[in-house]
Amino acid sequence: MPFSTLGLRAELCAAVSEHGYTTPTPIQERAIPVILAGQDVLAAAQTGTGKTAGFALPMLQRLAANHQPPRPRAVRALVLTPTRELAAQVCQSFKDYGSGLKLRSAVIFGGVGIHPQIQAMARGLDVLVATPGRLLDHLQQGTCVLDRVEILVLDEADRMLDMGFIRDIKKVVALMPRQRQTLLFSATFSSEIRALAAQFQQQPVEIDVAPRNSTASQISQIAYAVDKGRKRELLSWLIGSNNWQQVLVFARTKHGANRLAEQLDGDGLKSAAIHGNKSQGARTKALEGFKNGSVRVLVATDIAARGLDIDQLPLVVNHDLPDVPHDYVHRIGRTGRAGREGQAISLVAPDEADLLRGIERLVNQRIPQQILPGYEPSPRALGAAPVAARSPHRGGDRSGSGRAPQRRFSR
Ligand code: AMP
Repeated sequence: MPFSTLGLRAELCAAVSEHGYTTPTPIQERAIPVILAGQDVLAAAQTGTGKTAGFALPMLQRLAANHQPPRPRAVRALVLTPTRELAAQVCQSFKDYGSGLKLRSAVIFGGVGIHPQIQAMARGLDVLVATPGRLLDHLQQGTCVLDRVEILVLDEADRMLDMGFIRDIKKVVALMPRQRQTLLFSATFSSEIRALAAQFQQQPVEIDVAPRNSTASQISQIAYAVDKGRKRELLSWLIGSNNWQQVLVFARTKHGANRLAEQLDGDGLKSAAIHGNKSQGARTKALEGFKNGSVRVLVATDIAARGLDIDQLPLVVNHDLPDVPHDYVHRIGRTGRAGREGQAISLVAPDEADLLRGIERLVNQRIPQQILPGYEPSPRALGAAPVAARSPHRGGDRSGSGRAPQRRFSR
C-alpha cells in the first residue's frame, strides 16, 4: 500500500519517498487516517516502529490545511518527549517531512542556552518539540504560551512517567485549551498510561502494533555467560573478531559507561560514552561521531539512549542487564528497526541470572544462552563442582575455535 492511499497530500508523499520509504509501517497505516480525521489516539508502539512519521505526517497536513500564522510566542502543536536527543530527532523529522510546507518548527530542551530558544519562539510556532522541564521554564517566563494549542503529543509517555515528569506534564496540559487533539504514544499500555489517557484524552482510538511486552521478532537475541570481571575483555574480543563497526553498548551506571568507554578506547576501539552527566555538546558530538563512523562503540545509559534514532543499527550489546526488565525491550528496540534484521547480545554474569529470568518472563520467550570457550564463568559462581584445571583458553588464545557449548546459567 503506497503512502498516497492514506490521504496524505503530495508534498508529504514526496518528502516520504525522498527518505526512501515506499510502504507505511503498521503504526503509520493505522494512525495516519485516524489522526487526519482529528481523533485522539492512544498508541502502543515502541521506538523503531516508525511512530514518529506516524504522527508527524498527519499533524503537518492538519496544520497546513488550516494555516493561520501563529501569534507571537504561541504554539499550534506541542510534542513532549522525555529526552533531549529524542526531542531533537522528532523536531528534525517535522522539518524533514514538512520541507515542502511553510510551517515553522523548533525544539527546546535543557542543558543549553535559553536565549536562542526565546528567539525561536518569539514569532510563534506551528510545531514545538520540548522536554517538560525546559518548557515549564519558558512558560513561567512568559516566553511561550499554550492557550492556542490545537494538537498535543505525549511521545514515549511511559518513559516520561518513569522519569518523574508527571507533575510537569499536568502543569503544562492545564495551560492548554480543553478542545484539542491529543495523541499519546507509549511502549506499553500500563495502568498509569491508561489513567493518563483518561485524564487528557477524549474517546481515543486505541492502536496496538506491538504485542505487549514482546520484543520485535526480527531481532536475534543471545546471552553469553561470563564473569563480571571479564565482560570488557569479552566485549572487545567480540567486536574485534567479528569486525563490528557500529555497536551500541548499554551500561547500568553513568560511571560504568565512562569507565567502559575509556577501557574500550584503550583496547583500540574508538568509543564514546553518552549519559545524563555529559554536556549537551558532548552528547551531540558523541552521537554524531557514532553516526558518521568515527566512533565505533557508543556506551550509553538507558535514559540517554532512549529515543536515539540511528538508522540501520545492526547490533546492541547489554554489557550489564538492566534492573528493570522493561528497559531490555527498549534497549533491543534500537536494533532491527523498521523491518530490518538486528542482533541483541547480553553479557550475563552469574549474579545477573535472576535479572535474565525476569526479562524472559516479561518477553515471554527463552533467550538462547552460550558459554564461549576461554570465557567460562568461574565454577564457584556458577554453582558447579570446582574443576582442577583452568580453561586452556583463559586469558590466552581467544580465537574460540568450534562451537561454544550450550549451557544454562544456575538459577
Ligand atoms: P521511529 O519509530 O519513529 O523512531 O522510526 C524508526 C526508524 O524507521 C527511523 O529511522 C525512520 O527513519 C524509519 N522509518 C519510518 N517510517 C518508515 C517507513 N515507512 N519505511 C521505512 N523506514 C521507516
